Amino acid sequence: MFHTFLIKYGEIGIKGKNRYLFEEALAKRIRQALHATEGDFEVTKEQGRIYVERSGNFDYDETIAALQKVFGIVGISPVKVIDESELSGMGREVVHFLEETYPVHNQSFKIVTRRARKSYPIPSMEVNSEIGGMVLDAFPDMHVDVHTPDIEVHVEIREQVYIYSETLPGPGGMPVGTNGSAMLLLSGGIDSPVAGYMIAKRGVKIDAVYFHAPPYTSERARQKVVDLASEIAVYTGDIRLHVVNFTDIQLAIYEKCPHDELTIIMRRYMMRIAEHFASQCNDKALVTGESIGQVASQTIQSLAVTNAVCTLPVFRPLIAFDKQDIIDISLKIGTYETSILPFEDCCTIFVAKHPVTKPVLHVIERSEQKLTEVIDDLMRKAIETTQVIEVSASGVRTPEQ
Ligand code: ATP
Ligand code: MG
Repeated sequence: MFHTFLIKYGEIGIKGKNRYLFEEALAKRIRQALHATEGDFEVTKEQGRIYVERSGNFDYDETIAALQKVFGIVGISPVKVIDESELSGMGREVVHFLEETYPVHNQSFKIVTRRARKSYPIPSMEVNSEIGGMVLDAFPDMHVDVHTPDIEVHVEIREQVYIYSETLPGPGGMPVGTNGSAMLLLSGGIDSPVAGYMIAKRGVKIDAVYFHAPPYTSERARQKVVDLASEIAVYTGDIRLHVVNFTDIQLAIYEKCPHDELTIIMRRYMMRIAEHFASQCNDKALVTGESIGQVASQTIQSLAVTNAVCTLPVFRPLIAFDKQDIIDISLKIGTYETSILPFEDCCTIFVAKHPVTKPVLHVIERSEQKLTEVIDDLMRKAIETTQVIEVSASGVRTPEQ
């Protein structure tokens, strides 16, 4: 029955030019999201509103599901569009609409008319009471309640007339692209995809970097990360994923540095390389899935020592989350099943049995000096051989190199 959807979005604090950019970005993300669904669509912006019109062989539920993943949307109202704008005709259509939409007709209601067509001659209040009267005639068990009605029937008089009453929830947040971009350190675990999702929800476009260590980590572990990127791309839009071969750097650290410091030193090199690609992509921050105390490399001391190599801000949206809370989000967004696939993302030989939990910066820096002779070359090589993959919600689009 419904072909048209009114998109409601959060407007607080967005004015003037920002509002225009917000709407542009939202319309773009809606188009991207609907592109993957069956059937045709048109997205139009008019008078501070966004409408989605579907045609062809489209699926209602699929449309709603796709829109519910677009950040910036706070509500989706399925709309009945009619050509009739004469009073009694509109009233008849509202009665039909209530017949079709609700199984029972004993609720309280209110008609809310909005005249977007400036030339429409009848005042809104008059339209409200005329149509309200016709509804009462048609459904004697319904009654008017202007303060807390069960059903609020909206009648928008534009070129055509739009009737709607229900609003399905959207994900909230802000449209991706309205708040710059950041580089996500994406591993195959549960946490980092959730971290990327959360930052993207604030309107930040996401690029990503994954460090693998072939042959110690498998091709399937790499594929798992590509799959996770594709799964969050449903929300974040396309992701430019950098796959860095980290093996030689890890081997050098293993060979030259104290084994209880392996993880923290490795993390510092990951951050340095991530910053390199961040600056290439013009990203203004790094994003990780770290959470205080989760593992040895995530104690406050470890986080501080890792942070010391970064010049960009590091966003850690999960910093105060319990693991179960993170798992709940990963289940909700659909990454959990992929995250728990049993492919290691870091070879076990590179993990110390008793890693330092309270690293001291100058001690770690001294250990890193043991790498001086080799590390610049190794870093350059890792950067040069990095593979860039464009990942979209429907999979990998264009391998670049
Ligand atoms: P996750 O579930 O995200 O893998 P984790 O609990 O396993 O996190 P760590 O392995 O300590 O935690 O990693 C902390 C963060 O460092 C990850 O959330 C991720 O942002 C980043 N990270 C770790 N390993 C990699 C990797 N191989 N490639 C890219 N980023 C990584
Ligand atoms: Mg991990």
